[in-house]
Amino acid sequence: MKKLFIFVWLFILVSCAKTYDPLTGKHVYTLLPEEKELELGELYVPLAIDQNDGRYPDKEVQQYVVSIGKKIEKVVPRKLPYEFFVVNSPIVNAFALPGGKIFVNIGLLYVLENESQLAGVIGHELAHVNARHHARFLEKQYGIAILFNILAILLANQKSADIFLQFGKIGAQLLTLKYSRDQEREADRLGVKFAYEAGYDPTGLLETFLIFKKLGNTNAPEWLLTHPLPENRYKEIKKLLSKYDLSKKHLIKDTKQFHYIKNKVLKYKKSYDLMKEAKTLISKKKYNQSLNLLNQSIKIYPQNNASLTYRAIIYTIKRDYKKAYKDAKKALEIDPMFFKPHLIAGISLNRLKNYRESLTYLEKAKELIPSFPDTYYYLGLDYEYLGDYKKAIENYQMALKLSDGKRGWEADAKRRLIRLKKLLYY
Ligand SMILES: [Zn+2]
Repeated sequence: MKKLFIFVWLFILVSCAKTYDPLTGKHVYTLLPEEKELELGELYVPLAIDQNDGRYPDKEVQQYVVSIGKKIEKVVPRKLPYEFFVVNSPIVNAFALPGGKIFVNIGLLYVLENESQLAGVIGHELAHVNARHHARFLEKQYGIAILFNILAILLANQKSADIFLQFGKIGAQLLTLKYSRDQEREADRLGVKFAYEAGYDPTGLLETFLIFKKLGNTNAPEWLLTHPLPENRYKEIKKLLSKYDLSKKHLIKDTKQFHYIKNKVLKYKKSYDLMKEAKTLISKKKYNQSLNLLNQSIKIYPQNNASLTYRAIIYTIKRDYKKAYKDAKKALEIDPMFFKPHLIAGISLNRLKNYRESLTYLEKAKELIPSFPDTYYYLGLDYEYLGDYKKAIENYQMALKLSDGKRGWEADAKRRLIRLKKLLYY
């Protein structure tokens, strides 16, 4: 008991590092050191991609957003390996993960009208990262010891269901993180400053708020749910802007490239509208109607990896595993970091009795998002049929630990576990 107590104290002493905060120029004590923040952010990139329907297929669109991000990145005080992703979700949103992973939904590009607005939103997200708002949230929400344990175990690739459950829980919170009013105010102030210093007209952020307001309640952008907009926040940004010299020459308001990119994505918007509708139909179990919409969506934009993925899911439900595998494989050629098509490809190949190839997809799926129970069940089946009973048992056990009891395969997994244990140990 005493030993444990001393260990915990040592742990806290070591982990409570003194870090230089480039934003304030002061040394601050932080429980979450930069390298841990980075590891955490990287761990959750695949989950963020999956929850937002995969990365947008057009490389030119990706590169364009990266180029704006890189420009603003140059003027921010925290030097981190920033990354910028455009994801397939048609919901109007942008968000940041710890350590500087910034996500822009394709839905945001549909509604923005000029480049300085995009710069305003990216500047605001970079501000959350630079002010360490994620770190502060996590420090408050979790004991830092718990957080470190999760990181250590995930990185060491050890298996404990509790850790994986926590992985899912923290991930969900990071993806829908609600900031405090003070944090929003700070992010607005810094975001405007960053955009301005990068050479952009800083009124872009203000214009963005006006666009979001105009969308009304029925189309309320998710960005406003996670970045609440009380009336005075808008006024505060306006006051903030009055301090800037907007007559400064060469402030970028708009570019030709923005409109080239915007036209490019608008050309396939219909494909994404259909995908969104098809997703709702899947959740209502109206598979035939959904399939019909997805066929149309893919016809309009054959590279739409989100639609390919949802069609693969419907084919799996209909037990048409060859078609499911074909769609999942194509989706993975477009975005190899997308979890769902890995899982679907793995399940389909398992059903087609191609266990060895199924394994490679499922092991990759497990690596991307380790907290999803079905991956382990199908891995168990693959290993069992290939004769590796020890690994089959491990995977069935993990599947059952992670399951909420409503997956449908629990009874089968339990039966198989009992049988394999007898075969192996008696
Ligand atoms: Zn914000």
